[in-house]
Amino acid sequence: MFENDDHMVLTFTDLVKGEGIQSNQMVIIHEGHSAIFDPGGDLTYMPLSMAITKYVKVKDIEYVIATHQDPDIVSSLDKWLIYSEAKIVISQLWERFIPHLIPGYMKEKAEGRMIAIPDQGMNIPMGHSIIKAIPAHFLHSVGNFHFYDPISKILFSGDVGASLVDSEPEQPVRDFEKHVKKMLGFHQRYMVSNKVCRLWVNMIREMDVEMIVPQHGRPFKGNEMVDRFLDWFETLECGIDRVNQQYYTAP
Ligand code: FE
Repeated sequence: MFENDDHMVLTFTDLVKGEGIQSNQMVIIHEGHSAIFDPGGDLTYMPLSMAITKYVKVKDIEYVIATHQDPDIVSSLDKWLIYSEAKIVISQLWERFIPHLIPGYMKEKAEGRMIAIPDQGMNIPMGHSIIKAIPAHFLHSVGNFHFYDPISKILFSGDVGASLVDSEPEQPVRDFEKHVKKMLGFHQRYMVSNKVCRLWVNMIREMDVEMIVPQHGRPFKGNEMVDRFLDWFETLECGIDRVNQQYYTAP
């Protein structure tokens, strides 16, 4: 998605086969340093580790970074802990749950390798650059971060902007109105409330974002399409905005 002399951003969009939901794994390589974002579930480890060896050796990966704690995000962490020396970066809320979330978790393998992101976010050093961990709590997880690369100006937005498309998930969104249908139901249910959407959009508008890459489906590329997405998300009624007593009736 981006390449210059010492900086490269890659996404893999077709590694989940069969029953799994299509998902995007993002990789940043900067001056020989490397980070993987939302590495995925158990089934993704093999194809992802094979796909990246063209660019970086698995054992040399510096960070494995997770937006939140869901199994489709982190359940391959045991493999990354065993086969790489990477640091694992995740919200401080989820750090202590990691042993419970990972089937083959080995305490001694994880020792000194967990980086807990504080609620306010942080800058993660990467060579002469950084990756910004941006607060995205309640979108949808209670301890949730998105990751911004100031060189490519790409924002990896986890489940925000996620869509389920039938084909070509690597192709940027062209017809926004049509694309809304592929996002609406998921966002209405998984995002906690419009208040959080608005706060998040306010923060993103202050940043220089050229592309939003969600964990599932198509990216939003270019200022105009990024703005269309922000305008939509800002006004979205979702989560607790939409519930009433009927939802809380004992069966
Ligand atoms: Fe999730």
